Amino acid sequence: MTKEDNILKAVNLKTTKKRMMILSVLNNSDSPLTSEDILDQTSKEVNMNLSTIYRALNALTEKGIVLKQPSNDGKTYYQINNREHKHQLVCSLCNKVVLVNCCPLKKIENDLCKETGFTITSHNLEFTGICPECAKKL
Ligand SMILES: [Zn+2]
Ligand SMILES: [Zn+2]
Repeated sequence: MTKEDNILKAVNLKTTKKRMMILSVLNNSDSPLTSEDILDQTSKEVNMNLSTIYRALNALTEKGIVLKQPSNDGKTYYQINNREHKHQLVCSLCNKVVLVNCCPLKKIENDLCKETGFTITSHNLEFTGICPECAKKL
């Protein structure tokens, strides 16, 4: 059984070939991807289109397997919601994205879970700023 298989079974989602492919693309990526990126990497192998990908991503997001992060550049980024998930630092002038390699919210999440009894499945956090190149031109 593959890793993708296990992930889907764990949350009672049917293991379809398309969901598995999307998960494996996300699993193999070092950075968050847009639905267009995912389409680029999967359409050659199976008959995928953007609406199929949206539907699959929504199901995966609802189950907390995938993190959905709207960004200031107008795109929505997806990544696997694991311990190594990353946040983004975005330049508000040129939309350059730098990945933040740690999640500063783990402790807050744990405290919130204890306080409220919620099982937290995801969160959104994006930093905005001005990159060094843009700062030079100001
Ligand atoms: Zn910039
Ligand atoms: Zn986080």
